[in-house]
Amino acid sequence: MAKFFEYQGKEHFRKAGIPVPEGMMVKTPEEAEGAAAKLAKPVVLKAQVWAGGRGKSGAVKFADSPAEAKQAAAEILGMEVKGLEVKQVLVEEKLDIVQEFYAGVVINSAQEVRGPVLMFSPEGGVDIESVPREKIAMKKVDIIKGLMPYDTLNMVVAMGVRGKILRQVADVVFKLFKLFRELDCRTLEINPLVLTSDNKVVAADCRMAVDDQALFRHPELGIKIGREFLKEPTEFELIGWSFEESDFRGTSYVAEMVPPEEVKKGGYIGFHGIGGGAAMLGMDAVNRVNLKVANFADTSGNPTASKVYRVVKLIMSQPGIEGYLLAGFLMANQEQWHHAHGIVKALREELPKRPGFPVVLLLCGNKEKESQEILQEGLADQNARVEIYDREHVYDSSFIGGRLRALVDEYRKETKTT
Ligand code: GDP
Ligand code: MN
Repeated sequence: MAKFFEYQGKEHFRKAGIPVPEGMMVKTPEEAEGAAAKLAKPVVLKAQVWAGGRGKSGAVKFADSPAEAKQAAAEILGMEVKGLEVKQVLVEEKLDIVQEFYAGVVINSAQEVRGPVLMFSPEGGVDIESVPREKIAMKKVDIIKGLMPYDTLNMVVAMGVRGKILRQVADVVFKLFKLFRELDCRTLEINPLVLTSDNKVVAADCRMAVDDQALFRHPELGIKIGREFLKEPTEFELIGWSFEESDFRGTSYVAEMVPPEEVKKGGYIGFHGIGGGAAMLGMDAVNRVNLKVANFADTSGNPTASKVYRVVKLIMSQPGIEGYLLAGFLMANQEQWHHAHGIVKALREELPKRPGFPVVLLLCGNKEKESQEILQEGLADQNARVEIYDREHVYDSSFIGGRLRALVDEYRKETKTT
């Protein structure tokens, strides 16, 4: 799921007519000070990370003056919340809260639902899972019929909301669902939706995630990779994603594990697994012999030869790698000759640039015999250290790791004079 920071979600709220506090995102304590001065009132500072429970972990702080805001931002920036480093802080006008509600829409993919479920609770500000079922109004929304304004009015009334704020609260819930649909979200939550002492209903928080499969419809969201990523994608990862974006046959998952400067220090290999289980055994092989992976790559689900070719080219483009491992540690339920063809083509282009380069290829599964022939024949004339293995070593991570290590050591002796 493509996740968004609170400040980004709130921008969408604002455009959709859902009231949000006045505020701005900052990256330094000085900017926080400036933001607080501009707002000219007491502020709340909130860590911008893809994690909830910030209130409890000290990642939400209050400040009465710009100097205090600077101090609070200094404490929040660089903090770790659920393993995520805080690099951005949202500085907002502090709301005088009278009551906290919860409003949210999620996709429930269970067989009986398979669609959006709208929820509202008068007990917001806490983890919604901890709220008793009878305190949550839920509505499965038929996406053909859609939602009517009276639907949200009924939900909110059923939860005891009365008086002047009734229409405001129902209106926010209605607009929330509309926005959820417009952006093809999987999750869109306001927790808490607050009632302030001057009788305003304001979204004090926002959790938003958009369906990866729908991102192509939303170039305006600026999401570069429609996949779970904890950080900004690197150039390497963007290239990897371009293979996926243009071709949905099989998958190629590519991630850069360490920056190129680190790879040049030595001990890194280009890593290529075929499927998750095989990749785990492959990592085991590498770990056993004290080598490290410069990248993670996985081509599986019956990818085309062209897709495999692109991935191998990308792996081999990394400066400083000391070997290449194809970790096909499973009897793959796909025809492996597509892999064989893609690998041969890429390596025939790349190996002449790296004389003596270590290459260990383990490939088994359907069309194994043919695949082995393609690899053997295609790489026989290469001036490189190529070893090719089949099902005889299918789970043998210590053997494969050992061979890789031996070839890397030989290669080092040859290439390094020190
Ligand atoms: P989360 O804990 O990560 O979900 O972060 P929230 O944005 O929901 O903030 C946590 C809690 O901080 C909220 O439930 C509120 O009780 C409190 N809080 C957040 N913003 C304000 C504010 O403007 N004024 C006051 N008084 N409390 C706030
Ligand atoms: Mn919250």
